[in-house]
Formats: sequence, structure tokens, C-alpha cells
Amino acid sequence: RDLVLLGVLGDPIKHSKSPLMHKVALQAAGIEGDFVPLHVTPDQLEDAVKGIRALRFRGVNVTIPHKVEIMKYLDEIDEGARLIGAVNTIVNDNGRLKGYNTDGIGYVRSLKEETSVELKGAKIAVLGAGGAARGVIHSLLEEQPESVIILNRTRDKAEQLALEWTTEAIPVTGYSNEDAKSVLTAVDVLINTTSVGMSPLSDELPVETGLIPEGIIVSDLIYNPLETRLLRESREQRGCTVHGGLGMFVYQGAVAFEYFTGVAPAVDPMRAAVLSSLS
Ligand code: NDP
Repeated sequence: RDLVLLGVLGDPIKHSKSPLMHKVALQAAGIEGDFVPLHVTPDQLEDAVKGIRALRFRGVNVTIPHKVEIMKYLDEIDEGARLIGAVNTIVNDNGRLKGYNTDGIGYVRSLKEETSVELKGAKIAVLGAGGAARGVIHSLLEEQPESVIILNRTRDKAEQLALEWTTEAIPVTGYSNEDAKSVLTAVDVLINTTSVGMSPLSDELPVETGLIPEGIIVSDLIYNPLETRLLRESREQRGCTVHGGLGMFVYQGAVAFEYFTGVAPAVDPMRAAVLSSLS
């Protein structure tokens, strides 16, 4: 049997934890193969995609800055990825490349596994309206929450996203960060998808902690630091259940691994490998 050749495409790529995490998954699943970092600059992207076919990579992950641009070089795009407008996973089926997006699926799986959250019927607030927010909101809507509100520094972007995602069953409404005080009072789950609070600016808050309702679930996509200031203060000052971004990274990888190999990997060794490389 051929070696299962996998990789991750990005620029820069040196610091990616994906190779480490997927190699652990390959080993735990007893699959002979490798997962390599692939440094691809934007001008090389089209050739790199041809290279995936030529070298018979079974699959690749895609990271910054290629998640949107790469879509035009693929043979097929999964419906979810098309709606999100970005691809982070490509499966090579005998030379036919299909793009998926596992970020949102991974995020929701992690949130459900790691907290006691009941998303069905929940009122959810999402901070931020960028690429990560798109994936996360797409997957959250499949859980049938009661409503989703989006708060963003740039009001326009929140309103646009809300318009795009709102359905007859689930209202999605966009606000500016300035509206936080009035709109956060009734939420059950608050999710930070902005980069505010990420190292080295880990002292910053995406929202004033005092505005967060007591006892709700607060989640952050950031995993450097593992516990952001938002999570720490929500836990200590507001009695909230908190959830960090490491699980999202691990589960987006686990879902991608399953698409690549057909095998659902053991997530604990994957998480442990990433954790040990962070400390
Ligand atoms: P984008 O650049 O697409 O979006 C950034 C968002 O953050 C925008 O809504 C932007 O608002 C807001 N923002 C940025 N800086 C500020 C600021 N100083 N004050 C207020 N708002 C700000 O980034 P992504 O969506 O791709 O990524 C966002 C975060 O999610 C990153 O921290 C990233 O590390 C994390 N992430 C984590 C993953 C994981 O596996 N755990 C996976 C993917 C992302 P505006 O519209 O006004 O510019």
C-alpha cells in the first residue's frame, strides 16, 4: 500500500503545529505515512495545487494566507466551505481535489465536548465578523440556537454578515461593539472570534468583562495564551464556564484527518502533542 502523504500549505508555515499533531494521529491510527509543512507563497499557489496532484498527496490542510484564494484551483468545493467562503482542507481523490472547511465543525465539536453547553435554543453572541467568525457561525446555526448576535468593531461588517446568515427560523443580528452594554444582557454563550487578547497583546479585552452576564459560557478562539484575559476574568469575576481555542485547533485537525484517511483519530494524543509543544 502507498504511504499516506499529507501536508499543510501556508506562508509562513514554520510555526504550524499541524505536522506534529497529524503525525501523532497517523502513528496512533497505525497508518504509514507522513505530514509535512509546505511553504507556499501566493505566487506559487497555483503550481503548488498541481503539485498536490502530481505528488499524489492524499490531502492537505490550508492555512494563512491561502484559504480563500486556493478555492479557484480546486475541482469541487463542499457546500459548507462554499457558504463560508474559505477552504482549510483539501482531499485528493485520484487527482480530483475537493475543498472543505473543518474550522467551524471543529469549533462546535470542541465546545460541546469540553463544556456542558446546550446550543439548541441558546442565545449566542459572537464577537468579530472575520474569516473565523464565518466558519463558527455557519456551524453554530446547524445546532439550532434561538438567535445569534454579532458584535464587531466595524458595524457594517457585522450587519452584512448578519444579513447573509439570517434564516426564517434563526435571527442573526449585527451590532457595533458600542452596543455591547444593551445587547449582551440576555445571552447564554459568548464567543470571541477576534484576535484581541492574542499574544503578545494578551492584556487586551475584546469586551469589558463587567458587561458579561454572570454564569454564562464564554469561549475564545485564541489559544495563545491558552487562557486569555477574557476567559480568566469571566471565570474569576463573573462565575462563567470558560472554553479556550486549543480544542478548535485539535478538532479541525481531527475532522480533516478523518476526511483524509477515513479514520476518526484519537484526539487526546493530538491535544497532548500540541500542548507539550506550546509550553
Ligand atoms: P480576521 O482578520 O478575518 O478577523 C479579525 C476580526 O477581529 C475582525 O472582526 C476585526 O474587526 C476584529 N479585530 C481585529 N483587531 C481588533 C481590535 N484591535 N479591536 C477590535 N476588533 C478587532 O481574522 P480571523 O477571523 O481569521 O481570526 C480571528 C482569530 O481567530 C485569531 O485570533 C485567530 O488566531 C483565531 N483563530 C483560531 C483558530 C483555532 O483553531 N483556534 C482557527 C482560526 C482562527 P474589524 O472587522 O473591525 O476589522
